[in-house]
Amino acid sequence: MPAMSELFYREPYCKEFKATVISCSPNKDKYDLVLSDTAFYPEGGGQPSDTGLINEAFVSFVKKVGGNIVHSVDKPFEAGQEITGKIDWNKRFDNMQNHSCEHIFSGIANALHGTANVGFHMADDLITVDFDKYLTAEEIAKIEAATNEAILKDAPVKIFFPDEKELQELNYRSKKELKGTVRIVEFPGSDRCACCGTHVSRTGEIGMCKVISSMKHRGGTRVQFVAGERLHNYFNMLLRESASCVEQLSAKPQEISKALGKLFEENESLREKLNRRTEKLFENISVNLPEKDKLLLVNCPSLTPFEIKIFATKLSEQKSSRTIAVISEQNNSGLFYYIIYSVLPDLPQLTKKFNTALNGKGGGKAPFVQGSVNSTEEKIEQTLKELFG
Ligand SMILES: [Zn+2]
Repeated sequence: MPAMSELFYREPYCKEFKATVISCSPNKDKYDLVLSDTAFYPEGGGQPSDTGLINEAFVSFVKKVGGNIVHSVDKPFEAGQEITGKIDWNKRFDNMQNHSCEHIFSGIANALHGTANVGFHMADDLITVDFDKYLTAEEIAKIEAATNEAILKDAPVKIFFPDEKELQELNYRSKKELKGTVRIVEFPGSDRCACCGTHVSRTGEIGMCKVISSMKHRGGTRVQFVAGERLHNYFNMLLRESASCVEQLSAKPQEISKALGKLFEENESLREKLNRRTEKLFENISVNLPEKDKLLLVNCPSLTPFEIKIFATKLSEQKSSRTIAVISEQNNSGLFYYIIYSVLPDLPQLTKKFNTALNGKGGGKAPFVQGSVNSTEEKIEQTLKELFG
């Protein structure tokens, strides 16, 4: 049976209540408040704690410590003081809708496929449930449809506390050696499970269940879904996103992916065209550079690592220098990308020394090494001459 202080069990739809302060003690920058009775649900069973107000104090978190329900509040209270508590009802009701939905979904999954629920997490956006068996997308779609049928029936939810003997004979999920009174939450025809959370009184209040994603997870399946008010919010978010895509792509909502595919194709062909032109450009620059016997250094700002690789490759094909280096400073930041082509056998050792001297990193497979340094053009030139000249 619910304790005298567990108003959230006795009256799960209670939004505002009166009680007396039992104790209040400072805890870091907050206060731990214990009341004679409370409608605030303490975190547990996968369901987050309620938040709200006690008089003028904000209740940020509620937890069970031993037999006490401790409210974390931002103002002190006096023992014996009368208070009025007001829970954030929108948040609580949303938790009730989604927690009840999870029970029906898991109960149906268990009945159809013998899966056990091995993980349950209610985040601010999506509800995550982990099952111990792999469920195909088709199987999940069927569980979702059956869940929505159960919701539509608007069946009353039964919560009861069987005695030890009844409990032994009762078939329910999460059956384990539980000590003390066990609270059974039953959605007739869909699920019966031991649970300490708060639930809707009729399944119709859940509204609707929608699976957002499912994936293989640790040998089983991870399912993410939304129900109730947050399904409405989630759908609105998707509408906003798709409206933005429609506008940017000048496409109909049902043709967003087709328009994106076309855009990717265009992008790919532009990239290929640009690469061909870049290669041609570097080829022409290379031809006009003077021949250097030992070391040829070229500085060309704002090139990507990919572009300096093309540049150095072209130079290595056209010039007979023993070592060729291309450096490129990024936005006048002192960060230079570099690539060194060299036929010297000790290129790896020389690269290490080069990086150490100029606070850089990088490496590669001879005859090319590539990386970045933090330095100036003069210092880079000087170091290259010392090492490769
Ligand atoms: Zn539960």
